[in-house]
Amino acid sequence: DRRLAIRRDLSAAIQSGAIEMVYQPIFEVRTGELSGVEALARWTHPEYGPISPDEFITIAESSRAIVALGQHTLRLACTEAVDWMTARNETLRLNVNVSPMEIMGEDFIDSLLSILDETGFPANLLELEITERGILEDLDVSRARLKTIRESGVTVALDDFGTGFSSLALLHKFPFDSLKIDHSFVSRMTSERRSLDIVASTLLMAERLGLKTVAEGVEDQATLDCLAEIGCNMVQGYYLGRPAPTLLQTASGTPKTCQVA
Ligand code: C2E
Ligand code: CA
Ligand code: CA
Repeated sequence: DRRLAIRRDLSAAIQSGAIEMVYQPIFEVRTGELSGVEALARWTHPEYGPISPDEFITIAESSRAIVALGQHTLRLACTEAVDWMTARNETLRLNVNVSPMEIMGEDFIDSLLSILDETGFPANLLELEITERGILEDLDVSRARLKTIRESGVTVALDDFGTGFSSLALLHKFPFDSLKIDHSFVSRMTSERRSLDIVASTLLMAERLGLKTVAEGVEDQATLDCLAEIGCNMVQGYYLGRPAPTLLQTASGTPKTCQVA
């Protein structure tokens, strides 16, 4: 069946370079400038066509393939970002998603450091995105890992904020640098009062805690204007730029700079 076939073909796809990265721009709300990009994995299966990363990452997590996949995506994103920066003589912040299963692995830090070293991507321009779900799996190990990651200069974002327990204890005990507010709240902000209130309170809390905020899933101007008004730091979404296959395309043929009315 499909799941078995995907699992079977995954390792070969990683090795042959069939898993590629696309990049979605993240903009600074106040200045409208490009702040960085989020790298997202893509795989077109020879038989099934494009498979969503949600699907193949879940399957990879159920086997050891997730470690190889994580190393592949991080290495590829760093390599392409270095090429971009060299060609344009500019710096660019890079966000890469990491699976909880990867972070928990014993050699995660070694692997991270060696990829940074090997690709020459500056640690202080890299941000790893991790979901709450992952952290809750093993609090002690997660805390140790996050601390070591941050000591290397790499920053950490809490992804999909608002969808899990959104535990204040987690925000209290874990050293995050930014919060990514889940698209499910962002997309409803202008039509539903409760979503707006949740986003606005999250921003206030994040500010008090010294965390940067990124709103995901911005799909129209009204949402962008509203986010600017309530003080969100950064925005990401189809309205501002879809994930695109090359970094150069993402930033030079910028679909829209973030223009707040
Ligand atoms: P995510 O980290 O929350 O990534 C954002 C997802 O929202 C992406 O879907 C992106 O294409 C989509 N998106 C962006 N703007 C909009 C918008 O305005 N509206 C809507 N409706 N969606 C928008 P994608 O690329 O299918 O990725 C799905 C999930 O797969 C990601 O969610 C992330 O959890 C995971 N993922 C993707 N690439 C990787 C990877 O390299 N490693 C790991 N561990 N996970 C990854
Ligand atoms: Ca993410
Ligand atoms: Ca997210």
